[in-house]
Amino acid sequence: MIEDASDDLHTGASEDGMADVVMAPQQTAIAERLRKAGLRPTRQRMALGTLLFAGEDRHVSAEMLHAEALAIGEQVSLATVYNTLHQFTGAGLLRELAIDGGKAYFDTNTSNHNHFFIEADGELMDIPGDTIRVDGLPEPPDGMKVSHIDVVVRLVPKT
Ligand SMILES: [Zn+2]
Repeated sequence: MIEDASDDLHTGASEDGMADVVMAPQQTAIAERLRKAGLRPTRQRMALGTLLFAGEDRHVSAEMLHAEALAIGEQVSLATVYNTLHQFTGAGLLRELAIDGGKAYFDTNTSNHNHFFIEADGELMDIPGDTIRVDGLPEPPDGMKVSHIDVVVRLVPKT
């Protein structure tokens, strides 16, 4: 039963003809990406993974991704979206960014980079390259070193 599930996804031409079983090359790549990260490509992970990884790098909140999943007919709860995002983050496929109070955003670009945040829209944009320098950094406590610094540059419209 369960041990067959991952194989179902790349048998492709199964007789029931379900559209979500026959995978486009793009989905094969996403299934491969999930497997390499140690995650079995279940139907829900594939649906959410496709929304996240099929195009350009994205920044999404769980609420945004949940709305997108419902819009493509994927009946998934917000709690499941949260769990999946955290699984993807734990597997190194996403980077979690705490920007807006307690609200987490998830970034498909896991490299070290900084962000513009457009407060009115709740929209995040990558700041390209290495353009931010932080001066006067405090000495970390004994036994600790700085891992990285997240800079969020908050934007409002010019008046
Ligand atoms: Zn980013």
